[in-house]
Amino acid sequence: MHKTNSNFKAGFVNIVGNPNVGKSTLVNAFMGEKISIVTPKVQTTRHRILGFLTQENYQIIFSDTPGIVQPNNEMQNRMLAYSFSALEDADILLYLTDIEDIKRVNEDFVNKAKNLLTPLFVIINKIDIRNPEEVAKAKIFWQEKFPSAALFEVSALKGNGVKELFTRILDTLPYHPPYFPEDELSDKSERFFVSEIIREQIFLNYYKEIPYAVEVQIEEFKEKEDITVIKAKIFVLRESQKNIIIGSKGAMIKKVGIEARKNIQQFLGRKVYLELFVKVRKGWRDDENTLKQFGYFD
Ligand code: GDP
Ligand code: MG
Repeated sequence: MHKTNSNFKAGFVNIVGNPNVGKSTLVNAFMGEKISIVTPKVQTTRHRILGFLTQENYQIIFSDTPGIVQPNNEMQNRMLAYSFSALEDADILLYLTDIEDIKRVNEDFVNKAKNLLTPLFVIINKIDIRNPEEVAKAKIFWQEKFPSAALFEVSALKGNGVKELFTRILDTLPYHPPYFPEDELSDKSERFFVSEIIREQIFLNYYKEIPYAVEVQIEEFKEKEDITVIKAKIFVLRESQKNIIIGSKGAMIKKVGIEARKNIQQFLGRKVYLELFVKVRKGWRDDENTLKQFGYFD
């Protein structure tokens, strides 16, 4: 801990925005590590995930959030609540957008964000694939919506503008002692990250409603001498989805298991034995007790 250093800066940098604008990609770029899973599909992130970046003179706590969704079930209500909660405890708020967001503004959220005293940065992402004229138009749009915000344009994926943005974050960060021990990287456990790595493979390998019907729970996590034994349950809503997850002769679940195991081994830096089970849990997305058990109220 750097408690004695009066020049130490620390604070919460909360990243909010619509689904799929690149919030998790930006957090990972800042952290230089994969803290949050990224997929081409919307609503990949379902929780608030904190990543701690601690250096000699500062500690930035990046908070990744789910996208600002229109809730259709209790799980999505919880996801939206995480996004709103990120408005409450930010030292700096990063509102991430893509140029297409102009057509899908959640006015409720924007108004709440606008009335905060928290420093607000509006960041237009994906400039590597967007037309500069469209980006310029989006800048005017957002400056009108958020008159007191600082505007940035970046590519979280390619890195353009990320350094400049980081410098401004550091400049704006308040003087404060560190909140977390310097050797900690996140508020989430290894088990959580392992379940996210498995869920990432579900998002990448299945289509339509399947990824949104799935939740992953770690049932066993045993560190043996030379291998970590992990047993995980994949919950789906219906029997038919169970069959799709397993695939013909188990081919799909095998593929998911192989990919996930590789990534878990890399994450843990150890050999891993991974076993996956598929279970039907009818209506889990609307059942408060199950959602609690799945960590949606943490
Ligand atoms: P989130 O839902 O806001 O967390 O978005 P993700 O970080 O999961 O990213 C959604 C998709 O956008 C993924 O396919 C990313 O690879 C892609 N993406 C994110 N940032 C950029 C960017 O700067 N440029 C491009 N071209 N794609 C990006
Ligand atoms: Mg995300």
